[in-house]
Amino acid sequence: MAAQEDKKDNKKNNHKETNWRNVKGGDFSTWALIWRMIKLAAGYWRGCLRVVFIQLVLLFFLVTTFGGLGSGVKYIQHMTGEDKDKSFVVESIIGGWEWSPDDTWVPMMVLGVICSVVILAAVLHAMARYLEVVWQAGLVQKIVVRLRSDVYNRLQRLSFRFFDSSDSGSLLNRVTTDVQSVRLFVDGVIVELIKLVLALGVFIYVMVGIHPKLTLVCMATVPLLAISSIVFSRLVKPAYKESRVLHDVIVNRLTENLLGKRVVKAFAQEEAEKKKFDEANETFRKQRQWIFWRTSTMIPLMEFFALGNMLMLLTYGGYLYAEGDIEVDGIIVFFLLLRQITEYIFGLFQITDTIQRSLTGSARVFEVLDTEIDIESPAGGGVVEERLKGDIAFKDVKFSYLEGEGVLKGVNLHVEAETCVAILGATGSGKTTLLSLVPRFYDPDAGEVFVDGVRLQEYDLDCLRRNVGLVFQESFLFSTTVWGNIAFGNPKASREKITKAAKIACAHDFIMDLPKGYDTIIGENGMTLSGGQRQRLAIARAVLLEPAILLLDDPTAAIDPETEQEILEAMDQAMLGRTTLVIAHRLSTLRRADRVIVLEDGKIVEEGTHEELMASSGHYRKAAELQIADARSLALLGIEDGGSGQ
Ligand code: ADP
Repeated sequence: MAAQEDKKDNKKNNHKETNWRNVKGGDFSTWALIWRMIKLAAGYWRGCLRVVFIQLVLLFFLVTTFGGLGSGVKYIQHMTGEDKDKSFVVESIIGGWEWSPDDTWVPMMVLGVICSVVILAAVLHAMARYLEVVWQAGLVQKIVVRLRSDVYNRLQRLSFRFFDSSDSGSLLNRVTTDVQSVRLFVDGVIVELIKLVLALGVFIYVMVGIHPKLTLVCMATVPLLAISSIVFSRLVKPAYKESRVLHDVIVNRLTENLLGKRVVKAFAQEEAEKKKFDEANETFRKQRQWIFWRTSTMIPLMEFFALGNMLMLLTYGGYLYAEGDIEVDGIIVFFLLLRQITEYIFGLFQITDTIQRSLTGSARVFEVLDTEIDIESPAGGGVVEERLKGDIAFKDVKFSYLEGEGVLKGVNLHVEAETCVAILGATGSGKTTLLSLVPRFYDPDAGEVFVDGVRLQEYDLDCLRRNVGLVFQESFLFSTTVWGNIAFGNPKASREKITKAAKIACAHDFIMDLPKGYDTIIGENGMTLSGGQRQRLAIARAVLLEPAILLLDDPTAAIDPETEQEILEAMDQAMLGRTTLVIAHRLSTLRRADRVIVLEDGKIVEEGTHEELMASSGHYRKAAELQIADARSLALLGIEDGGSGQ
């Protein structure tokens, strides 16, 4: 059952993965992604050049060390052979220079010089390695920090449509884990490939310098290794993709659980939720296990192929040595270099594996970066007004979240500046949607919305949103001080202004009663405040912006009747001098409005003042009468009801 649910979830996530709207171009093929990341790294060409430079230095010292070791063995062989009285010549393997010890030197002196060269080269190699690590990490970190910030910025600017089609687990992963995939690509693929190409180039150059034919024979197994790497990488690619989606499911479960912890606890669902989490975890583990299994069968196979070049050296190299075609130092250098080459070829296997691991994640990062920002200020800057008057007009507005499923079906509404219009309607009738068109959270599919006679799309988006204050049904508070929460929309606001906004929102008194007043840090998700207090802080936050337009999405919906009165007072004060659109169900709020509209299935079906609508026999009157009857029965029972306001 749970497994089925998992499958369903996966499907859902897969669906979301492929359903992102507005992804430009969308060429996420392997080569397109690789090319894109190479271009990304090329943007940091100075850092890349440093990495190349230090690699060459490292290779030089490595080859010198090998050459020194070879010369040492050759000297020992020379001293123990028949030709020990002939002069001994050390030939460098790079640069073509020679060195001959003086005839008066004792063997230990010659070995001492050779050892000193080897040690010096090894020390310099170690120092260069230090620089390599520092420079490489510096380069990679620069790229990651920049990318993470780009993704974050893009997420901040994307419209609600985007967020509707992607879950928060997936988004969190994209900013954190998936950005690391790009790092992995730069670090584990681009830089490693640079190292591989340089190393193979230098090693082959040295080997060819010693014996071209032996080089050719010893390198014969390399293509086999390369081909198996590529075959393997094709084999595991889909698994890595699936792995990401399963990881999203885990993160999603976690975020939902944390955000909804109160519901989970209230319904005593901790065990059931834990089970679901464990199942997601287990599915992920099994899938990773499959990848590990594939990887582990591949490694011994590759090792076997890698052994091939050593066999070639032993047989053909031995034959050449016996023929006097190559000297012992040549064989030693070949041996040491072939071991290095094997390591690098193993590196190639790692690289193909890394390519697959990182491509999936990188594609998800680029998906975010490529998603078009469909709601933004007009090109060349839009209309900027310090303060709008707040006259709102909806003209024939049609809107749907999903194609073919109209939510607003031709809304015409004029809200004069500084008046209040209340919206009444059943759940799902489109009230919230109507409000969300005003700050351009969404753009209508057809029709236009005007503020002060100007189309919303013509406004500078910041200017428009600065002029719109919003209070939702349940307000999100940040884990910071009361000051910080109220000043969220205007962090530079003076303390006086913040206090004034709090007073308007009837929040000042309770804030002063908090342990540290305005300096009290609000617990996660505002848990330490009651619903009414949170709403008043939210109203203060909206008021501080001094918006021309105030949008209140049923701010008393989640509030008990006793607290409602305080919120209503706060709303009364907040609404003064502003155009207000308020979604409301309770008569107490509806009666405060200059006009009420009744929304039904995305259309306005009634419109008028409270008195006018009460005089008709429509939905409004029925709803009002029900509330009045309720209030009367409560009064008879001796229970006070602030809700009806009668
Ligand atoms: P109301 O505020 O009147 O309850 P809404 O405006 O929230 O109604 O929603 C109207 C309809 O649009 C509902 O059927 C709801 O399911 C749907 N809807 C709301 N938000 C979204 C969304 N983000 N994505 C898809 N459908 C949505």
